Amino acid sequence: MLLRELTEIYEQVRATSSTREKIALVADLLRKTPSELLPQVCYMLRGRLFPDYSAQELQIGWSSLWDAVCSIVHISDDDLKAAYNRFGDLGSAIELVVTEKPKITVSLVSEPLTVEECYSALVKIATLGGKDSTRRKRAILTGLLNQSTPAEAKFIVKTITGDMRYGFKHSLLEEAIAQAFSVDVDVLRKAYMVRSDIGEVAQLAKEEPAKLKELTIVLGRPLRPMLADTAENLEEGFRRFDTALFEYKYDGARLSMHKRNERVTVFTREADEVSQSLPEIVADIRKIPHSFIVDSEIIPFEHSPKAFQELIKRLRRKYRVDEFARKIPVKVYVFDLLYLDGETLFDKPLLARRKLLQTLIEPSEHVEIANYVLTKSAAEARIMFQEALDLGYEGLMIKNPQSYYTPGKRGSEWLKLKPEAETLDLVVIAVEYGHGKRAHQLSDYTFATRDREDNLTPIVKAFSGLKDAEIAEMTEYFKGIAREQRGRTLIVEPRVVVEVKFDEIQKSSLYESGYALRFPRIKRIRWDLSVDEIDTIETVERIFKRQKRVA
Ligand code: ATP
Repeated sequence: MLLRELTEIYEQVRATSSTREKIALVADLLRKTPSELLPQVCYMLRGRLFPDYSAQELQIGWSSLWDAVCSIVHISDDDLKAAYNRFGDLGSAIELVVTEKPKITVSLVSEPLTVEECYSALVKIATLGGKDSTRRKRAILTGLLNQSTPAEAKFIVKTITGDMRYGFKHSLLEEAIAQAFSVDVDVLRKAYMVRSDIGEVAQLAKEEPAKLKELTIVLGRPLRPMLADTAENLEEGFRRFDTALFEYKYDGARLSMHKRNERVTVFTREADEVSQSLPEIVADIRKIPHSFIVDSEIIPFEHSPKAFQELIKRLRRKYRVDEFARKIPVKVYVFDLLYLDGETLFDKPLLARRKLLQTLIEPSEHVEIANYVLTKSAAEARIMFQEALDLGYEGLMIKNPQSYYTPGKRGSEWLKLKPEAETLDLVVIAVEYGHGKRAHQLSDYTFATRDREDNLTPIVKAFSGLKDAEIAEMTEYFKGIAREQRGRTLIVEPRVVVEVKFDEIQKSSLYESGYALRFPRIKRIRWDLSVDEIDTIETVERIFKRQKRVA
């Protein structure tokens, strides 16, 4: 299959604002796609080359990408910068320059690129490691761009920068697959929930649609966690559900734990396997009979909850694991049961899952069940909220006891309630060298939110507030994703998402966004969030209005 067929559809989908038309265009493409290529085409349409259960990322440094573009066309660095600034995205910039400027080397291979060639080259770029890998990645990319048309080059670069932006959400892809192969979209969605692999599900929809209903969870393959919406206040929980289930909101990292006979595998929210770094947790889970998948939160805990930052030293650690297990004790609070001895429990109400969980897990030194309170009484919930804060937890989770488990969805069946001190998830767009002992370190960050047109717009600048070692580590990281240097400031790829705490949002003419944050400080770097998940200007405005109401 030619890559051109895919990029033409990409452009057409981008050009229309009609959702129905977008779906029909993609459905048509999928119908024409040979069965064995369906997974790759689905992944490429999503702009992510791997299934959700894979933690593999396509990462290539910004400078490699930039150099690869410069090396295929006769263009100066300044001209490419000008094109880049015009669009704000390198994919569109390369389309323009490749259209306008002759290529340096005319490709010896005159055959048009196929989807297979493009996909396998990109996978190679993603998976190459070790010495010399930067040069080899760049060489593969240069070869690929050299062989491609301007529109294909744009598509490839956009895939790499993760900036597809063609108004085609995952839910639309599900609908397009269902339409292409005349299967029920709900059946397809459920199949995707249990498998975390849209490619596999698409292939089955085409080949053996009857089997979609029979798909079961694969133990040891991470699922996408269910997510929560924000509750404005306690009353909101009661407004939404007649009786609500309350749990503490533990401030740590989400873990899903799979046990199959004796084998235990533990995954983070980003599908990274971290079993090796948590031997005491694995040992406790192994003692529990049955095969199962539980959902949970891990926190640093020594007599009481400790600062979240401590966890970073434990998760993903490969060396001196036992020593750090002693130094930084942790506890896992289990709050959901998704699978038990061959049965998927997504369609059982939360309360039923909770009751089963209670019978499954015997609390141990490192693994406990999260307590819950089921109540209609706001007074009782308020006491629990205060209790949560007194004990050092982050707040409360308010859940609908009748709700099903919906992997990967952020819905209103789960709400999170935190105290007034607000936080926003923002992305770092520029970093500046500090002063004095920080003169060689990038210690001042500029953060952006997303405006109504979906552009990143700065909202606050803050001293990083991280510890020295972290600042040094982040300095190296930022250098690797720098797009441009302006004096002492580096403009960086918008990749690092940070949870920023602040006291108040104020109107301000300092930034185009029209708002500024008072007393900003970094709470933590959110490696688990991507730039698509940051808080938008709508959230900023909502908090601003609420503050005014309270004041
Ligand atoms: P936040 O930044 O507020 O932690 P988030 O973006 O990580 O939110 P949300 O889905 O918005 O994720 O909030 C729920 C998160 O809270 C879960 O992903 C989980 O990591 C954590 N959590 C802590 N305690 C619980 C609990 N009892 N039930 C569910 N999730 C919990």
